[in-house]
Amino acid sequence: MICLGIESTAHSFSIGIVTDNGEVLSNETDMYKPKKQGWGIIPMEAAEHHKEIKDELLKQALEKANISMKDVDIISFSQAPGLPHCLYVGLEFAKELAKKYKKPLIGVYHLIAHIEIGKLFTKSNDPIVTFTSGANTQILGFAEGKYRQFGETNDIGIGNAMDKLGRELGIGFPAGPKIEELAKKGSWTELPYTVKGMDLSFSGILSECARKFKNKEKIEDICFSFQETCFAMLTEVTERALAHTGKSEVLLTGGVAANKRLQEMLEIMCKERGAKFFVCPREYCGDCGANIAWTGLLAYKFGQKPLEPEKAEVYPRQRTDEVDVVWMK
Ligand code: ATP
Repeated sequence: MICLGIESTAHSFSIGIVTDNGEVLSNETDMYKPKKQGWGIIPMEAAEHHKEIKDELLKQALEKANISMKDVDIISFSQAPGLPHCLYVGLEFAKELAKKYKKPLIGVYHLIAHIEIGKLFTKSNDPIVTFTSGANTQILGFAEGKYRQFGETNDIGIGNAMDKLGRELGIGFPAGPKIEELAKKGSWTELPYTVKGMDLSFSGILSECARKFKNKEKIEDICFSFQETCFAMLTEVTERALAHTGKSEVLLTGGVAANKRLQEMLEIMCKERGAKFFVCPREYCGDCGANIAWTGLLAYKFGQKPLEPEKAEVYPRQRTDEVDVVWMK
């Protein structure tokens, strides 16, 4: 069985083709870049980018997988959560393909898709998931039919926090990899540490970084201390979720999972607790069609009812624990 997955929640438009034994036949992604230098995502511009690129990416994905639309059994798309303008481009494209080629249409919650592709590639079974992407930061674990949010950001996602810091420091977008590089040459400068119960917030830390930058503190020190502080906060909450649930695995995923210092901190914590630590492979950490295709396949195989194209919708603000996970029951 083959599923074609369409991802369009934010800056990336991606089409992945995956088989039901977990083989990724293709995973073609094109990322929108803001026209004005130094700006973050402008949703309408990003949606225009997705519209312009979608047919070409489909062609590329089919060619790379060496199949035609006839060989595709299921079409899945990122249905939630995300930027409405961007989500609608994926929805309309998926509906068009499902109708034209008469294929079942499956909506996928894209945060869960990040978890499932991570589990597929790491062979982790029932992890606490430290999900660190651009717009989202959540500490999740499966319990009673759903992925539950044990902790989350109270303001912005860690990736967006890094990108905002990047704008303040004038180092461009996306800023995560550049901050990681600069941090290697930095040393400690005091920043607020904001864990509230199981939740985190990053905007106070950002304001303090901006203040320090205006006061001519070294950019490397700001990057180093930002990482040390925010990643320690994430590690603390992840550890508490492990202790609370009694689970014995941690899976790090989302775009920020590429960061080696974050990986190192979580790994040390896991080692000390006797838990196993997994990181989703870099290629599949960020938004991609392959994770939407794989999760669409799981949902379809385990009985999730396909959507009627005319009635299919997107849910920009849906929460992880509102979604039934049929394949885990
Ligand atoms: P979401 O998936 O929540 O809609 P998104 O699409 O913006 O958000 P991803 O594609 O998962 O998120 O991740 C992008 C983020 O990852 C960016 O904010 C980027 O700065 C960050 N990032 C990428 N590489 C690194 C790195 N090495 N260190 C830290 N952050 C990184």
